[in-house]
Amino acid sequence: MKFPPQEILTAIEAADSFLVASHYNPDGDAIGSMAAMGFLLQALGKSYDLYNYSGLPERYSWLELPKSISTHIPDHNYEWVFLLDCGDLDRSGDNFMSSIARDKLINIDHHMGNPEFGGYNWVDPSCSAVGEMISLFARHFEVPLSKGLGQAIYLALITDTGSFSYSNTKPETLELAAEIIRNGLDPGEFTSKLQNQWTLNKAHLVGKALQGIELFHEDKIGVISATQKLMQETQTSQEDCEGLINLVRQIKGVQIAVSLRENGENTTKFSLRSWGDTNVRDVAVFFGGGGHLNASGGLIKAPLPEAKQVLVNTIAEVLSF
Ligand code: 5GP
Ligand code: MN
Repeated sequence: MKFPPQEILTAIEAADSFLVASHYNPDGDAIGSMAAMGFLLQALGKSYDLYNYSGLPERYSWLELPKSISTHIPDHNYEWVFLLDCGDLDRSGDNFMSSIARDKLINIDHHMGNPEFGGYNWVDPSCSAVGEMISLFARHFEVPLSKGLGQAIYLALITDTGSFSYSNTKPETLELAAEIIRNGLDPGEFTSKLQNQWTLNKAHLVGKALQGIELFHEDKIGVISATQKLMQETQTSQEDCEGLINLVRQIKGVQIAVSLRENGENTTKFSLRSWGDTNVRDVAVFFGGGGHLNASGGLIKAPLPEAKQVLVNTIAEVLSF
């Protein structure tokens, strides 16, 4: 069985004040593992704050949190600062690293290639989600995975395993989910809160984006795009574009799904997804991004049409399509 490093357990036991942070533009693993760490510290009687540069995304507003997530770093001399699910310091947010001393940083992550920038580092790419790693702290301190803590870890697992459908779903992942359900979580109730979040505008965005899907390289690369114009027409936001990529990967024969969205005048955010051994992390790293073997992302400093061309060409080159 996996076990958290002793020095991190000792740090939690010995200290009283903690800051818990995760990467900007947080997904369900980042938010879920932060919330779980907060619930755990609370159960241990510690004082703590939660920080995320982007704050809590609207789509997770239903989630029970141990306390609210601050979008500025509170002016406090924390003994330890947890940074969760963050494989790259650039993703911690604008002034995170100038405000936090590295030797106080505890880096807990599951991204391949995490450069271990903390004073203490626990990086384990074999864990499906950082939420799974936080559950091991809870097990050590004998805090039950019930109520808010169980829900937060469940959110992390569901997000990073695609509702237990990707190859990173291990027997341990399902055993952990089973433990949370045994402790009272209702999967149907949880899923309806997580998934039934669409506005009619989002449905219109999805419809138009689906119509615009393009296939390249013998239809092995599928691209879905969201321009600023499309978001304006459908009165939707950047956040509404989350999840578009999952629609492309369902097209028969598509080995690499790409989603692109205009993030500003001259910046395009890209996401990549694949199945099996097809490594899309290498492509993201080429553009200064990162992620996992089958799920990665990053930014390209170019307008969307240009970014699309260079990204499709690079995918074909890096993966020898
Ligand atoms: P998404 O495409 O859903 O934003 O992210 C998929 C995966 O790629 C996540 O594991 C995320 O952490 C990683 N990722 C996305 N964007 C970036 C980025 O700009 N830099 C790095 N290092 N990783 C990213
Ligand atoms: Mn994660």
